[in-house]
Parts: sequence; structure tokens; C-alpha cells
Amino acid sequence: MAELPEDAGGPSGPGRSAKETVAFIGLGIMGGPMAICLLRAGHSVIGFNRSPEKTERLSSAGGTAAGSIAEAAANADVVITMLPDSPDVEHAVMGAGGVLAHLRPGGLLIDMSTVHPRTARLIAREGEALGIDVLDAPVSGGEQGAVTGTLSIMVGGPVEAFARAGPVLSALGTTVVHVGPSGAGQIVKAANQMVVAGTLELLGEALIFLEAWDVDRELAVQVLAGGLAGSQVLDRKAAPMLARQFDPGFRIELHHKDLGIAMDAARQAGISLPVGALVAQLMGAARAQGLGELDHSALLVVLEALSGLPPGDLTRPHE
Ligand code: NAD
Repeated sequence: MAELPEDAGGPSGPGRSAKETVAFIGLGIMGGPMAICLLRAGHSVIGFNRSPEKTERLSSAGGTAAGSIAEAAANADVVITMLPDSPDVEHAVMGAGGVLAHLRPGGLLIDMSTVHPRTARLIAREGEALGIDVLDAPVSGGEQGAVTGTLSIMVGGPVEAFARAGPVLSALGTTVVHVGPSGAGQIVKAANQMVVAGTLELLGEALIFLEAWDVDRELAVQVLAGGLAGSQVLDRKAAPMLARQFDPGFRIELHHKDLGIAMDAARQAGISLPVGALVAQLMGAARAQGLGELDHSALLVVLEALSGLPPGDLTRPHE
């Protein structure tokens, strides 16, 4: 396990001079602001997104929009993918016209999406056969971390490739740790997603419990935040949950995907994760109830229904 050295290219490190041309594929809630962070750190960025209007912000910040993945990859030293799910990444990387067909040998591919560890290992093997280094480097820290370049990044893959990725990764995150070989980053991310979902679930239960006893929930949250129950989930999500403000953020659809990865990997490892499995079912229920496009904090709505509470006002995106 290794952390990036101080001089890996952060805003004040000597490695700042190591500038790369980065192709950034997938400019959504996370990828859009991450690409801007790379520009800010002095890298050149060529962006591609399936819906092309999402490249506009990058272009006006000094980046370049590409017309295809092939065009972006052919002109880059480093390719970053930040796409929704395993099939998206497999198609964008290994499909005809994908990254591996167009990135030059000696190039570096960093997949920062949250995908199945199986996908990470498959891509790493295909890349290795073509002389392309591949890292799986999923992130935690949400949209806010993506905007401020303060993500937590868990990296799997060859340690030499991790060292080479330093100037790029340090522009995106403040906690950047090499956790093991290919796929290990995705295993750590799956663990992260269980902890976040479980914490959100209990936060939702706590809010319902407090309301049932007619306690001022804002005051309760204030005091909880100062004790052992405090967490970033509580700090960032309690207020929007109380305000029933569920604009994403991190969509239920994506968290459902991540818990599916965790459950599948647990089954493959032959272990039992009972609370993780329960929370995965509750997240699945939120999706089944049509809440998939809302922030994962809307898990509260499912918990309210279990207690027989009437559905409150929902702020749905795009309404
Ligand atoms: P998003 O849906 O906002 O963005 C994905 C982007 O990829 C979209 O703009 C979409 O148009 C584009 N896209 C899809 N297929 C494409 C293709 N083949 N070629 C080019 N572009 C394509 O999702 P997001 O919230 O940015 O999440 C991206 C990844 O990061 C997911 O794996 C998610 O689980 C993970 N993640 C998200 C958060 C968060 O808070 N949103 C936090 C940590 C990790």
C-alpha cells in the first residue's frame, strides 16, 4: 500500500511541472468538474461525452471537445474514464472505436468510474497485452469533492503506473492511496459504498425516530454531529433530508448498482454481510418506487413508508 509522495504534483509540489494531455471520457456530475480541476492544475484536457452539450463547460474553461472517444484517446498521454456502470466502461474501453484501440502503447488508462472488480481486471489484462498501463481508481467525496479537487481516490494496479499517475491524480484528490493490484481499488470502493449506504439508512431511521418523539430534529442533528455518531454523511446529508431536498448528488440508481457489486463480490468471496444485504434491498426498493434519479438520501422516503408515514413533498429533479 502506498500514498502519493508530497511532490507528486499537487498544487504546491515540485511535480507540478509534469503536465499531461488527458482525454476525459464522461463529463457528468463527477467527470465535468474533475476535468476542470485538471485544467486548473495545468494539464491539457480533451473531453468527450455521449451527450455533447456536456462538453461546453470544459470548452469555455480552456479545454477541447472531441467528436469521439477515438479522437480523444489518439491525442492523449493519459485517458480517464468516468462513466456510470461496468457495461459503459467495457464498451468505451474495449469496443471498436474504444480507448484501447486508439491510445498509443505506453499510454496510461485510469478508470475512475465505480465498476465491478471483474471489469477492472479484464481491462487491465487487455491493456497489458497492448503495452498500455491501466489503473482502477474509483473515488469518494461526491460532487463537492469533484468540484474542489478533494476526492478520496482508491487505486488498484501496478505500482509504477500509480507513480506515473501522480501529477494527474493529485489534481483531483487530497487522499490518494494505492491499495493493491488491479481490481483492489474497486473492492475498497464497494466497501465504501456499504458504509455510506448503511450510515444513510440509520440516519434516516434516526430522523423518523426523533420526529415520532416530537424532538426538534435540527437541534438533535447538531448534537449528534459533535459526538461519536458524527460523520460526513450526517454533516452533508441531514440538512437536505430535513428539507426534503433530493436533487442529486449521487443518484439512487448508481448506489443501487454499487451495492449490487458489493453483494456479488461478497458472494464470490463466500462471506456473509447481513446488514449490507438489507441496505442493498432497501436501496433496491427506492429504485423500484421510481426514486432512481433522486439523491441517495431519498432512501428516507422508503423508510418513512415502512413506518406508515404518508409520502411527503418530493423535490424531483427536472420538474
Ligand atoms: P453521471 O450519470 O452524472 O455521468 C456519467 C456521464 O457519462 C454522463 O454525462 C453520460 O452522458 C456519460 N456517458 C455515458 N456513457 C457514455 C459513453 N459511452 N461515452 C461517453 N460518455 C458517456 O454519473 P456521475 O454521478 O458523474 O458518476 C460517474 C461514476 O462515478 C459512476 O460510476 C458513479 O458510481 C461514480 N461516482 C459518483 C459519485 C457522485 O456523487 N455522483 C461519487 C463517487 C463515484
